[in-house]
Amino acid sequence: MFPTDYEAVLERIDTIDPVSYGRTRNFVDGAVTKLSPYISRGVISTKQVLKRTLKRGYDPRKIKKFIQELAWRDYWQRVWISKGEGINSDLRSRQVAVNNLEMPSALVDAETGIEAVDRDIRELYETGYMHNHVRMYTASIACNIGLSHWKVPAGWMYFHLLDGDWASNTLSWQWVAGTNSHKKYFANQQNINRYCHTEQEDTFLDLGYDELSGTDVPERLLSTCLPILETKLPESRPPEIDQTRPTLIYTLYNLDPIWHKELDANRVLLFEPSHFKEYPVSANTIDFAVQLARNIDGVQIFSGEFSELQDAAGKSAIIFKEHPFARHFAGREEPRDWMFSLDGYFPSFSKFWRECERELTGQATLF
Ligand SMILES: Cc1cc2nc3c(=O)[nH]c(=O)nc-3n(C[C@H](O)[C@H](O)[C@H](O)COP(=O)(O)OP(=O)(O)OC[C@H]3O[C@@H](n4cnc5c(N)ncnc54)[C@H](O)[C@@H]3O)c2cc1C
Repeated sequence: MFPTDYEAVLERIDTIDPVSYGRTRNFVDGAVTKLSPYISRGVISTKQVLKRTLKRGYDPRKIKKFIQELAWRDYWQRVWISKGEGINSDLRSRQVAVNNLEMPSALVDAETGIEAVDRDIRELYETGYMHNHVRMYTASIACNIGLSHWKVPAGWMYFHLLDGDWASNTLSWQWVAGTNSHKKYFANQQNINRYCHTEQEDTFLDLGYDELSGTDVPERLLSTCLPILETKLPESRPPEIDQTRPTLIYTLYNLDPIWHKELDANRVLLFEPSHFKEYPVSANTIDFAVQLARNIDGVQIFSGEFSELQDAAGKSAIIFKEHPFARHFAGREEPRDWMFSLDGYFPSFSKFWRECERELTGQATLF
């Protein structure tokens, strides 16, 4: 489902249908792009996707929904940059009606009885992908029906996603749980049947919206657990650094094969154990990153801390890309590619998007 060869990734960008996307994206079999694992891993940027798509001759007004969704990615990242660690707890208001700080075991076991959700959780375990709408259903079942606080189930989903992106993940969970939005998000069985092509009745979600928010936790969701999430990093030796050349650092969030491609440099993919202890990801995700790193000429993989890499680098100048997870790195920080030049905190996506649209109007000069 997710090839790792760079040419195949570019081909995927060139074959998306951004017009049909706008009409069908909410359906599980809609024209979604499946680009997020590559964007999250920093192989390609949102700007690169937009630029290549516009080059194919699309009128931005006709593919607004698609550009808007790409902008959500940048928006959440901007919120993270502004709020820092603040996104790790309830951002704007406390989550109300919380019964537990775990998550329903039925979700972990893919046995909620909601066919579409169970099927896609199994697929998530297998492929590392889940459709956006099903992510919303899953989060709503965990937080708003099962009354779990969002933090544990968000970490569980992040662990399994190949596209795990801490900002998109935690802030979307918070959006569903009502801590980063005005109200909680609910979906009933009718909604799920429509977008997932199922025909289920008599489930715990087979209710009207006015009934859903006030019901007791269904029997199926009463049992809760703390999923065990541990990352196994590849074995490695300290990197061999030629101190006369600069050292480029790659991470799970920066696997861009064309970054300084022509530079004569040491290239190290750094997996920090301390990071993965706090933000664990699955073996599938690590393996995906290792495969993607094959697009980077001469890259060495190092499972160790930044300070150890610094010691090995000695006089070699360290260069890395800006990212909230790289704040403890020292050396030359370079900016990443954003779609729009907006900076700072926007309290709502609509305010952010208004400014994006202003920039888009002059897109011929922008790109
Ligand atoms: C509970 C929950 C958790 C999520 N966790 C993550 C996560 O860890 N990592 C992640 O990348 N996305 C996350 N998302 C956002 C969204 O679900 C995925 O980006 C999207 O499903 C990726 O699939 P795609 O590339 O086929 O998306 P498409 O629908 O084809 O969208 C194209 C691109 O637009 C961006 N995009 C689309 N929808 C969103 C969105 N709602 N928020 C931010 N960017 C978006 C992505 O970069 C995506 O690749 C989460 C959403 C929810 C509701």
